[in-house]
Amino acid sequence: MSETKYVYSFGGGTADGEAKMKNLLGGKGANLAEMASLGIPVPAGYTLTTELCTHFYANGETYPAGVEEAADEAMAAVEKIMGSVFGDSDNPLLVSVRSGARQSMPGMMETVLNVGLCSSTIPGLIKKTGNPRFVYDAYRRLIMMYADVVMEKAGGVEPKEGQGIRTQLDGMLEEVKEAKGYDSDADLTEEDLVTLIDRFKATIKEVLGREFPDTAKEQLWGGIGAVFSSWNGKRAVSYRRIENIPHEWGTAVNVQAMVFGNMGNDSATGVAFTRNPATGDNKFYGEWLVNAQGEDVVAGIRTPNPINNDTKNDQNRHLPSLQEAMPDTYKQLFGIRCDLEAHYHDMQDIEFTIQEGHLWMLQTRTGKRTGTAALNMAMDMLEEGMIDKKTAVMRVAPAQLDELLHPIIDHVVEAATKPIAKGLPAGPGGAFGQIVFSADSAVEWVKKGKTVLLLREETNPEDVEGMRAAVGILTGRGGMTSHAALVARGWGKCCIVGAAALKIDVVNKKMTVGDKIYNEGDVLTLNGTKGLVYEGELPMIDATENPRFVEFMAIADTFRVLNVRTNAETPEDAKVAIDFGAEGIGLFRTEHMFYGTGSEEPLFVLRKMIMADTEQGQKDALDELYPFVKRDMKATLDMMAGKPVTIRLLDPPLHEFVPVSEGERTRLAEALGLSMADLDRRADELHELNPMMGHRGVRLGVSNPGVSMLQFRAILEATQELRNEGKEILPEIMVPVVGMKEELEDQLVLAKQVHAEVCAKYGVDSVEHMYGTMIEIPRACLTADEIAETADFFSFGTNDLTQMTFGFSRDDIGGFLPDYLDKKILPEDPFQVLDRESVGRLVETAIEKGRSVKPGLKIGICGEHGGEPNSVEFCHLAGMNYVSCSPFRVPVARLAAAHAQITYPRK
Ligand code: PEP
Ligand code: MG
Repeated sequence: MSETKYVYSFGGGTADGEAKMKNLLGGKGANLAEMASLGIPVPAGYTLTTELCTHFYANGETYPAGVEEAADEAMAAVEKIMGSVFGDSDNPLLVSVRSGARQSMPGMMETVLNVGLCSSTIPGLIKKTGNPRFVYDAYRRLIMMYADVVMEKAGGVEPKEGQGIRTQLDGMLEEVKEAKGYDSDADLTEEDLVTLIDRFKATIKEVLGREFPDTAKEQLWGGIGAVFSSWNGKRAVSYRRIENIPHEWGTAVNVQAMVFGNMGNDSATGVAFTRNPATGDNKFYGEWLVNAQGEDVVAGIRTPNPINNDTKNDQNRHLPSLQEAMPDTYKQLFGIRCDLEAHYHDMQDIEFTIQEGHLWMLQTRTGKRTGTAALNMAMDMLEEGMIDKKTAVMRVAPAQLDELLHPIIDHVVEAATKPIAKGLPAGPGGAFGQIVFSADSAVEWVKKGKTVLLLREETNPEDVEGMRAAVGILTGRGGMTSHAALVARGWGKCCIVGAAALKIDVVNKKMTVGDKIYNEGDVLTLNGTKGLVYEGELPMIDATENPRFVEFMAIADTFRVLNVRTNAETPEDAKVAIDFGAEGIGLFRTEHMFYGTGSEEPLFVLRKMIMADTEQGQKDALDELYPFVKRDMKATLDMMAGKPVTIRLLDPPLHEFVPVSEGERTRLAEALGLSMADLDRRADELHELNPMMGHRGVRLGVSNPGVSMLQFRAILEATQELRNEGKEILPEIMVPVVGMKEELEDQLVLAKQVHAEVCAKYGVDSVEHMYGTMIEIPRACLTADEIAETADFFSFGTNDLTQMTFGFSRDDIGGFLPDYLDKKILPEDPFQVLDRESVGRLVETAIEKGRSVKPGLKIGICGEHGGEPNSVEFCHLAGMNYVSCSPFRVPVARLAAAHAQITYPRK
């Protein structure tokens, strides 16, 4: 007998497990146990733990001794509660076998329903229900699912494209419907079903070479094994990779008494959210179908009815709500909705079945929600007193904020444009792109650099990669709880489902609306917030600031200890960043004044400086350049008055600025009085084989002191002039690409000389400023104690540090990164998420060494990682003072910093 408990029972008002045990029982099993203990009506059942799954895989897909006996015992308890017996010929109990991982993986794993129906139990169930058609329909559903999931997929059978057993059986069913002129499965008669079942079994024997199992027990263990196997199915593995779910977790399996929503017009099934998952409105929100099984709602084959009058929409207004059709049951369900929210203190996503007027709860879990909904619910629940501030802050994932700042269609243009179709608003924001009709095409087109919308009749888990690649998803069928809607909402991706006016022809890659045809590659625009589809490309604008967002962020700010700055080069960017809450500039890249609009003049002078052949020529050009540099720095320092601004000295290799076009070269040669041959020779001299490791950063200042001095002077003069106007100016001069303390000292001598000159010019004793360095070379990390003697601050340039640590070119990693991710050589792009094992260790070493010399050393990060939530958490843990990121990521960084402090409090 095995020591470990692998089987946990629930039902009849008690349970072995509880909600806290998600890791062991999976989300579904843990919450079924919790609901059972709360006295909520749950069909009895038992959960086989995730540890059993781990054992199963570690031991050649076998179970430890004693598990079968424990399961038999648990089944006996279920039988007692439900008043029927599994495999019994007079009073048979049927069960479902479902997966349930720690974290929900919608539709990624397998389920088998109606297990226990076989030739010995069918007559008993017919007698008990008095409904032979119902029993045969349940049996044909079991056969279809079981043959597909257990016999084919788990059996390792790989059918040819389009030849799967499920497709073949579906085809047979469709043939009968067509021959008899039926519209839906519900029209099939008992006789039709009996004949079909015989043909199904014969086909299974022929195609799969095995009889369909005819004992309850064989079906049960076949089902359990298949669900465990589905953890390692192709689509589950791919979903885990996208969602970063560890493969070691394993799934639990829930075996639970079947209840039927398809036993007549007093039976029904539905799914609901305790609040609206798209907007966050405090309204019970859901869909149901009379006389149907759960799959029918999610599959989107019938348009589901609204659960109550509050949540009717244009698509379902004509259909009766549950509130209207079954008022007493609705009342009971509404009561459970309130109890669940009060118990879990969060919005729940629930599934229920009504069997002959009796309500059963099949699932509750924390509901996925859009960023907007997450924010609104957190603030509502805080106001309702349901949660505290800390919980409210933790309820919104930093990445969800992106979605709140998501682009939307320009209102003015939209108001003047007629939509070609309307569907349900399943995912937020606006998106436009070229339409494609398969997930594979979406992936391929995106690889080629195109922006696509994925159009499907409905989506299924096999489409996930394509849904990910597309900027928006549009389906012809399905409701707000259909697969497409669930997945898109989870990702915060623009999505419209159930746009019934669209005739989507996947085979011929075209879509028809009325008499207009759209082909693959045509452009559409989606408004996922309203469910509107437009022809062509509509302009997008950024979502406007909403007061709730500001209030929420202010609460989050009370928790964080990390400061958040921005990387900005223009007063305009700085302004945006301040509006988003930036507390200073962490990186002002000087070279940006030589790129883009308005840069023609300073760029020309810079080029003259670079190409000048004589010292005097270079000096003249520097003098000419000076006013531009000072003007630029002054504007930004002015805009940021009262806040620190880190200005970095010129960083890129000078050859980047050498003109390529013949016209520009001629103009430059003329201005410098050089021949074209001389100019070309000078350009050749500047050319480098490995410029990223070449003559850049501090190395420019070492060989061209005048270039550094010009910048020191511009910063200090601008500062003093603004201070003379009474402004609080806080400049931090930063030297890039430093590897040796001597480099920093070399530049400090120049800085001191300029400082003395500026003091004399303005008649002051000192122009206060900070002098520090970027840490972006491994050598700098390892000798940070020496460097700290000359630096007032460190700012980690983790873009270069990652490049130098991995030896990956930051500009060329795209060529091989997908292979590295596919083969799991890397868990993610190290240029996006800071690699704690390597770059992280270097950063920690540098901080420790730096602060050993200067305990108060100010430390921040200005690489791209400064706006990525996981990396922000690292920076918090490493003891940095601030992170700096692009303006639009400032709110994300603020929230991530708050989360980090709540999770790992730091003094
Ligand atoms: C860095 O290297 O991380 C950095 C911020 O500097 P840049 O990206 O300009 O090289
Ligand atoms: Mg750098």
